[in-house]
Amino acid sequence: MNDCIFCKIIAGTLPARKVYEDDQVVAFWDARPAAPIHILVVPRQHIPTLNDVPEGDPLIAHMAEVARKIARDQGVAESGYRFFFNVNRGGGQVVFHLHAHVVAGWNLGVLFIHMGVALAIIWNRVASLVRLRRP
Ligand code: AMP
Ligand code: ZN
Repeated sequence: MNDCIFCKIIAGTLPARKVYEDDQVVAFWDARPAAPIHILVVPRQHIPTLNDVPEGDPLIAHMAEVARKIARDQGVAESGYRFFFNVNRGGGQVVFHLHAHVVAGWNLGVLFIHMGVALAIIWNRVASLVRLRRP
């Protein structure tokens, strides 16, 4: 029995919000989106990581073409999007069935700067409250 979540989605035994499919790949919305648009491009074949794709295999180019089409369909091709693979645990990979992320909708760099500024303000406030309470 194959326990892979993405194999189950491809087989249709687990639900997913599919946006595209062909004979090589399936694309569906990420269940825990990190941005307003977060879609995964997944090959039908169970390949654990990017490292396992044979050299010269046209699959990765096809996945990039599908990502490009999805970005166009979602209306973010011009404004911009990210297309990336997490590879192995150190690279943040959690599901070991090859997949590429297509992420768009927030300027992630700016978001992190805002979060950093907010944390600094909160930290200063807490530090001054602690100082005030000291005898
Ligand atoms: P990664 O960290 O590159 O392995 O990404 C795995 C992604 O799969 C994460 O963003 C998860 O939110 C997503 N994910 C996990 N289970 C499901 C599922 N059943 N349907 C859709 N996305 C999922
Ligand atoms: Zn699989």
